Amino acid sequence: MTVQLLGAADIRRLAAELDVTPTKKLGQNFVVDANTVRKIVHAARVEAGERVVEIGPGLGSLTLAILETGASVTAVEIDGRLASRLAQTAAERGVPARALTVVEHDALTVTELPGDPEVLVANLPYNVSVPVLLHFMETFPGLNRGVVMVQAEVGERLAAAPGSKIYGAPSAKAAWYGSWRLAGTVSRQVFWPVPGVDSVLVGFERAAEAMGSEEERAATFRLVDFAFQQRRKMLRQALSGALGGSAAASSEVLERAGVDPTARGEQLTIADFLRIARAA
Ligand code: SAM
Repeated sequence: MTVQLLGAADIRRLAAELDVTPTKKLGQNFVVDANTVRKIVHAARVEAGERVVEIGPGLGSLTLAILETGASVTAVEIDGRLASRLAQTAAERGVPARALTVVEHDALTVTELPGDPEVLVANLPYNVSVPVLLHFMETFPGLNRGVVMVQAEVGERLAAAPGSKIYGAPSAKAAWYGSWRLAGTVSRQVFWPVPGVDSVLVGFERAAEAMGSEEERAATFRLVDFAFQQRRKMLRQALSGALGGSAAASSEVLERAGVDPTARGEQLTIADFLRIARAA
């Protein structure tokens, strides 16, 4: 199916019709370039018949490119004016009504998705991109892969390995769910309004098996937060508040877990953090 995608003039016309002035608060930078949305869909390897969830469809730029493949889309949008226009935009371009389900909801708190999606494709609202991603990975275990557009620094962090300067809490937590990779860069000029930051695509594949239980995940993430709140400190110090209240007590747990108490959080894999949580 070929769908006529949205260009700059369509975006401005739709925004004017809905009386929408893009807001920073909701991270509203709309893609006005058909090549960019096709590039995102291509990077995600979306195929006909697949069930895709999109966070923040906005005026529908990326939504139409996903629908063009013959996949179905569940789109979660917080802004009621944008959510209420989306079905009409798709219908005007010949997309069958059954292919698109719009959910007007905050993606940070949504707990049910019609259509049981398996692939996530989104140009994320940048101010909440990491919490939204972690919420979706946690709440929808059926999501087995995806590609998202995020601010460049955030994407680099998500894909960073232990030992690098930018490896941090988001990198460690994301790794709980699977593997993450940088999947391309996107010019600022493809957005309206043009954002003040660079953007990248990040792809992920969910690990075949969960690393641990929900309880273990919560305990592990708590340790990750402690470790990176004081990332220059040695672990025996940084984790003391979480592991017995003193450097001596935390050293004991770390040694039991096979982790050097003088190491720093930025050197640890998520599996190391899990071993510490299990030894605590
Ligand atoms: N997908 C569109 C595109 O590529 O042109 C819009 C992307 S824009 C960067 C982010 C979108 O996410 C906006 O439509 C905004 O209203 C929506 N949004 C912001 N915060 C949200 C949230 N918490 N839950 C769901 N949607 C949100």
